[in-house]
Amino acid sequence: MSLDVDRPSTDASADGAPAPEATPAPTQDHLAHNYHPLPVVLASGEGAWVQDTDGREYLDLLSGYSALNFGHRHPHLVAAAHAQLDRLTLTSRAFDHDLLAPFATRLALLLEPLLAAPDGVLVLPMNTGAEAVETAVKTARKWGYEVKGVPEGQASIVVAADNFHGRTTTIVSFSSDDDARRSFGPFAPGFRVVPYGDAEALAAAVDATTVAVLIEPVQGEAGVIVPPEGYLAAVRAVCDEHDVLFIADEIQSGLGRTGATLACERAGVKPDLVTLGKALGGGVVPVSAVVGRRDVLAVLTPGTHGSTFGGNPLSCAVALAVVDLLETGEHQARARELGEHLEERLAAMVEEGLLVRYRVAGLWAGVDVDPSRGTGREVSERLLQRRVLVKDTHGQTVRIAPPLVISLEDLDWALDQLADALR
Ligand SMILES: *Cc1c(COP(=O)(O)O)cnc(C)c1O
Repeated sequence: MSLDVDRPSTDASADGAPAPEATPAPTQDHLAHNYHPLPVVLASGEGAWVQDTDGREYLDLLSGYSALNFGHRHPHLVAAAHAQLDRLTLTSRAFDHDLLAPFATRLALLLEPLLAAPDGVLVLPMNTGAEAVETAVKTARKWGYEVKGVPEGQASIVVAADNFHGRTTTIVSFSSDDDARRSFGPFAPGFRVVPYGDAEALAAAVDATTVAVLIEPVQGEAGVIVPPEGYLAAVRAVCDEHDVLFIADEIQSGLGRTGATLACERAGVKPDLVTLGKALGGGVVPVSAVVGRRDVLAVLTPGTHGSTFGGNPLSCAVALAVVDLLETGEHQARARELGEHLEERLAAMVEEGLLVRYRVAGLWAGVDVDPSRGTGREVSERLLQRRVLVKDTHGQTVRIAPPLVISLEDLDWALDQLADALR
């Protein structure tokens, strides 16, 4: 028997039983309170635009925290998903399927030139970003014990303050955000937190027990923090000197957002391992991966790590279509071009006194609002009234991350709205 709870029949059912009571209008009453969304209920989307349940249109300048780099329902990605839905969706890793090796190969070929991997790379598919980070942490520790020779139980990983790497108990253990940590202890040991952008502090935290440095090449959740020039190269040098793995968390910064396939690429720096997520699933399905040095990922052997859904056929079909889009370089170029324009517009807003400052990396910006003009949340709510979707972070900051497929006209219109909302 199937029960359609969304559209209850008001008629008595065929067997003469009493009519079911009308389903109450849906409310937020049963939803856990771990988010504080802006007051809008979305129902459809295409490209850079979404519609709410009343048919009002909004321009999306958040892009699902860069999970929607290619916009809503990109035709190539949706077609790949549709085709795969009609064929095979899940096997588990107990069995191979015909898209798993193509996915690994195509992603490896895309990233190999950007990684410090003279012997080639391996790809380990997972689902969410946090899982990719956990995978990288486990891989680095196992490599540390079995290859580097760190005494069992003593591996340390150096991370940066104000990081965001996900929400698992291990990952929040090395967060410096009080909301992310409070009441979730006891915390996992083995992490050393140093200031972001300070290569000397990072070098000082590295010792013989250190297996990895884990950083975001641009800190996304912290407010699009771009490190000082030369920082990533200095991190690379410290890692080389001490036989430490450089793990770049590119879950938000990677796959086109900064105008390059990887944000590290912009700095001319090659990490040993990279974590990917968000845009890898094209805004269609959750797909994440760790990609990096063959000799390092090879420490994982059957039974040591895994995921029921990781690398499933539907995910591989969509991620392969994402690789198609990235291979042309077209979206990366667009992020660079539109990003330059975005920067000019933001500079003019600072000049006019509307913004205190901004940071920009490709088509990605964090703008700090003068408190006299409202909080980041207030500005986000004013922009919602003006049909532009953004999200605040850390009080005074608003993050701008339009889909890379946005038109110049739409971007300009949204920035006009931002300026007006600040005036
Ligand atoms: C979003 C994000 C994560 C976590 O990804 P989830 O899919 O939400 O688990 C990890 N690292 C960075 C840099 C992120 O932006």
